[in-house]
Amino acid sequence: MHAPKASTIGPITQGSPEQLAYMDEIEKLFTIDTEQLGDIKDHFMAEMTKGLDNERQTLAMIPSYVEGRLTGQEQGHYLALDLGGTNLRVVLVTLEGHGKFKTVSTKAKVSEELKTGPMRDLCGKSDLKLKGMDDTDTNRCVTMGMIDYIADCIDRFLTEQNLGSVDEDLPLGYTFSFPVLQSKINRGILTAWTKGFNCSGAIGKDPVLLLQDSLLRKHLPVKITALVNDTVGTLLSNAYQKPDTLAGLILGTGANGAYIEQMTNIGKWKEGATTSHEMVINMEFGAFDNERVKLPVTRFDNKLDRKSINPHFQIFEKLISGMYLGEIVRNVITDMMDRNLLFGQHGQATDIVSGHYQFETSYMSSIEADGSDDLAMVREILDTNLNLTNVDDVELRIVKRLCELVGTRAARLAAASIAAIVIHAKVDRKGADIGIDGSLYEFYPDFEARIYQGMAELLPDFAGDIRNIIRLGLARDGSGVGAALTACVADKMFKSK
Ligand code: ADP
Ligand code: MG
Repeated sequence: MHAPKASTIGPITQGSPEQLAYMDEIEKLFTIDTEQLGDIKDHFMAEMTKGLDNERQTLAMIPSYVEGRLTGQEQGHYLALDLGGTNLRVVLVTLEGHGKFKTVSTKAKVSEELKTGPMRDLCGKSDLKLKGMDDTDTNRCVTMGMIDYIADCIDRFLTEQNLGSVDEDLPLGYTFSFPVLQSKINRGILTAWTKGFNCSGAIGKDPVLLLQDSLLRKHLPVKITALVNDTVGTLLSNAYQKPDTLAGLILGTGANGAYIEQMTNIGKWKEGATTSHEMVINMEFGAFDNERVKLPVTRFDNKLDRKSINPHFQIFEKLISGMYLGEIVRNVITDMMDRNLLFGQHGQATDIVSGHYQFETSYMSSIEADGSDDLAMVREILDTNLNLTNVDDVELRIVKRLCELVGTRAARLAAASIAAIVIHAKVDRKGADIGIDGSLYEFYPDFEARIYQGMAELLPDFAGDIRNIIRLGLARDGSGVGAALTACVADKMFKSK
């Protein structure tokens, strides 16, 4: 599966003098040239070192407790659990060796009631039964805890797969995509909820212990052996098939990365001997340059930041990831409307485009892919999604150009982060594989090509052969297969200790 190619139109050359002058300024604001990108990359590298040596830095550089590398020969049955934003997924992963695997999975919706209810079952299963409730119908017991709902899903899945009464406990990798202070490969403390979750009685607790307790009460043959960040899972799922994998990135709703570091470079590590000289680091790079030292943050980015639920934080993520790119474009569009430079002369209803987050990043993908002379797709998107009709040709081209600028800037910033990792890790011409997961990378036209372009500028020694040296690839399902592989690594570490 590959994204379509972008059909780039370049700087705007037709329009009123006012439109041309405005777009001239926009070009300058959103273009990051090679020199500036190099500065950003250098700052990124310095921040990496700071985070490796000290606690509580902007780049958190969190040790994942995943020690060593995969060989691709790992085998066995593992469970993976993925608690994401909207769905709960249980996956049975069978590792077959030679980088091959099979998966069977089930998905369950996480209702708003569950997301904002208690973490633990307050009325208890027995009470449920006494009240004559169907214990699979979660909506009928408002006090049913999130954790017990999860355990129920695992219970049902094991029964379906005839694994309810196996002799040996199945190892489970738990992808828990919320901020966790990790203290072991399968221990950590939830520090805050994000993404609309707000279960009571969970912050400050270990999500692994809570779930393991519930699994024990149900007598399920499952042992949680790994707590996994999705970037780490992405790295491992790529590494299983490509042993020269150095890093894993998420370019989806958010942006983050993980890479393999030498223990001797992790100055803040105080936990003594490890089973390997290497460990995976979860960078939490969405927070890079929250201080705004090097990032070319525009007034449109600042507007987005101020109105976000986490003002000032995650600024790198806000310039790069799927949740935000459309909103940046929308901020420019509305600014142009306020100056009578766009959508004014036809008297259209512009109330939809005036609403927060109404210009989705997926629209940018379709707009960038439109290679027709009359920009029929751009017209169609503005019409059907935003109710903007009678848009003239100049306006269509301006909207397309804005998408190109914001999309290209995002890809180039992503390139700076990868180049920083590559230089930091002293990659030579033998090169490295980088696994990337997320809809932005998968579906945005030329996002990958623009990352390569940025990397070629930052890594001039590799420029002629960049695609063969820094090998980017889609690593789907890091939270499933990657979590299972993390559980497998945990097994190995446990046995070798
Ligand atoms: P998650 O990061 O939650 O695991 P995804 O990787 O699917 O999920 O990323 C979802 C994000 O990707 C959303 O913010 C959405 O705006 C963006 N997105 C979805 N489809 C596309 C597309 N076709 N082109 C660009 N971005 C997209
Ligand atoms: Mg994801």
